[in-house]
Amino acid sequence: MNYHQYFPLDVVNGPGTRATLFVSGCEHQCRGCYNQSTWDERSGLVFDEAMTSQIIADLNDSRIRRRGLSLSGGDPLLPANVEAVRALVLRVREQCPTKDIWLWTGYRLEDFTPAQASLAALVDVIVDGRFEKALFDPKLRFRGSSNQRILARMPGGFVPWEG
Ligand code: SF4
Repeated sequence: MNYHQYFPLDVVNGPGTRATLFVSGCEHQCRGCYNQSTWDERSGLVFDEAMTSQIIADLNDSRIRRRGLSLSGGDPLLPANVEAVRALVLRVREQCPTKDIWLWTGYRLEDFTPAQASLAALVDVIVDGRFEKALFDPKLRFRGSSNQRILARMPGGFVPWEG
């Protein structure tokens, strides 16, 4: 997997202070996408062990308390990304057990493949669905268009996130 950007300190993508990774690769081609440079999964930099260790170290940095990790892109659930994102999520779960994980994807929950669903079951919140320009609303929190949903994982499945 490749990634485009890593923000070790981010207060925009999800609640609280966070670390955010923008992975490369997206097949949705939403009209009005603000991140078209991430569409090509070969673009950006190789996501390697050093980058994983950096994220873990940032999340565990006691000088700046981060609430969690945000995974965006591109699309972390692009089939070619699922294995690498899953490995990262498992590392964060193991080594940063108090941190939450948010994941943005253009796929809808109902359409997830078994591999995507199994990865989604490891994160706390997913924001799903393509960006629809006609439904763009700048007042929305953590999403661009009103068709996109913020869904929190509960024992019985995903439910609307209530903040
Ligand atoms: S899912 Fe996100 S990154 Fe992909 S085309 Fe749509 S808006 Fe752009």
